[in-house]
Amino acid sequence: MAGLAALAIWSGPRAAEPPPAVILMIGDGMDDHQITIARNYALGADGTLAMETLPYRAAAKVLGIEEADPAMPAYVGDSANSATSLATGAVTSAGRVSTAAGTDEDLPTILEQARGAGLRTGLVTTSALTDATPAAFAAHVADRDCQGPADMSRVECAPDARARGGPGSIAEQMIAAGADLMLGGGAAYFGQRIDPNDSRSPTIIHRARDAGYTVARSLAEAGAAPPGGKVLGLFARRDLPVEWEGEEARPIEIARDGRPRVPAPFRCAANPRFGDTPTLEAMTRLALERLGGDNAKGLFLMVEGASIDKQTHERNPCGHIGELLAFDRAVTAVAAWAATRPRTLLIVTADHGHAAQIIPYPSMFSDYEKLPGIGPQYPAGYVARLRTGEGAVMTINYATNAPPEGVAEEHTGVHVPVFAAGAGAEDIGPLTSQPALHDVMLRRLGR
Ligand SMILES: [Zn+2]
Repeated sequence: MAGLAALAIWSGPRAAEPPPAVILMIGDGMDDHQITIARNYALGADGTLAMETLPYRAAAKVLGIEEADPAMPAYVGDSANSATSLATGAVTSAGRVSTAAGTDEDLPTILEQARGAGLRTGLVTTSALTDATPAAFAAHVADRDCQGPADMSRVECAPDARARGGPGSIAEQMIAAGADLMLGGGAAYFGQRIDPNDSRSPTIIHRARDAGYTVARSLAEAGAAPPGGKVLGLFARRDLPVEWEGEEARPIEIARDGRPRVPAPFRCAANPRFGDTPTLEAMTRLALERLGGDNAKGLFLMVEGASIDKQTHERNPCGHIGELLAFDRAVTAVAAWAATRPRTLLIVTADHGHAAQIIPYPSMFSDYEKLPGIGPQYPAGYVARLRTGEGAVMTINYATNAPPEGVAEEHTGVHVPVFAAGAGAEDIGPLTSQPALHDVMLRRLGR
């Protein structure tokens, strides 16, 4: 055996050995209920999504703390603090982007460390690139709303404002962080002047070009950027349009006879406003091609399906189902790419739970109505009924805020699913946490 070891040393690094790659895919708000809703609708109750074919399955605790008392846990997170956990391994408070609760100290991110070691790095999202999830990998601010220079006069953005010697908004910091590729929305933020009060001030897009970025408004332009060069693809002013549309859930109406009337079942439809927007799968394929090609050192890529969350806030079941399926198609593309590269770790997970749940309708307690003093049984909150591909009716309920005043649904505090494949996936325990996932990823990159 000693002889073989010596031979291995003498032959130097094996030419066929691929560089390490870590690809983190985040379905925003994609808890097990979201996954089951999309599976039921599109594939049937016994169907299987692409992410569910990955060989490792775990659950990750979403850890957060209170800003006012960092010793106290916060049981419901947002995309900012949960993405901070995944990006930095640190637990922080809701709204913070890779900064510490209480102290506002900057927390180094896995993308920054990978870039510092010479690896290629990328961020792909269906939201504005300045939104909390992608921002947490390449910016450090006290509050997620500090997206562009025009936001920096807000009180919560003061610690990072240029006027106070800070590094500026999320958009400015993301250009300075220098990821090789950023694809998503957010042109409205990157198009802002760095000094909003000075009409001669350059915009962040000017600053990006100075830093060597090709600024693309279509996927074709992004793909035509010089090989090895940096790309900033801005495909919408803010978030990208969603792929599917349909009715929003509604509160139950009580008819004159005192009986509840639930909305009629419906099917989802393609969103005509999606148009020629690049799909998450197409953006992800371009990212793999540009970051993975002719790359000796390795890569870190984060891909986010952002509007699963946003559509659930709006109680639009077709919106979040369509976005989850679009995310799953991107998973298929990454899994196929990773299967031919043995040193690749693929992790698919969510940042936090969300409001949508599947409930029985009519209520399983309808029989109780025959008892004295018990009236009709019907769901609280907002309800939509979908006719699934199997022809059955799936009733979806959103009830974290009461109608009619509840402006939007809330996140929920459940742990989130983890699916994984490839090198290092075996290091993920069956019950893990978002900071622990960060540590597994960092180890794979040799940091
Ligand atoms: Zn949300």
